[in-house]
Amino acid sequence: MKGLGGTGSQGLRSKGKTHIPCRRCGRSSYHATKGVCASCGYGAGPKTRKYAWKNTRKRAK
Ligand SMILES: [Zn+2]
Repeated sequence: MKGLGGTGSQGLRSKGKTHIPCRRCGRSSYHATKGVCASCGYGAGPKTRKYAWKNTRKRAK
């Protein structure tokens, strides 16, 4: 039975940085080891990572 402890897995993230600020999108989603931004895909290739659901809204009318 879990109590009120809210920081359950915080103790696991002590070694080094996994994600550092991305120079493209500015978010801390750039994987320092992989060299790929999880947010915009910087470092993965020439293309910027985009999602359809994240994109501009299509006007229904
Ligand atoms: Zn990025």
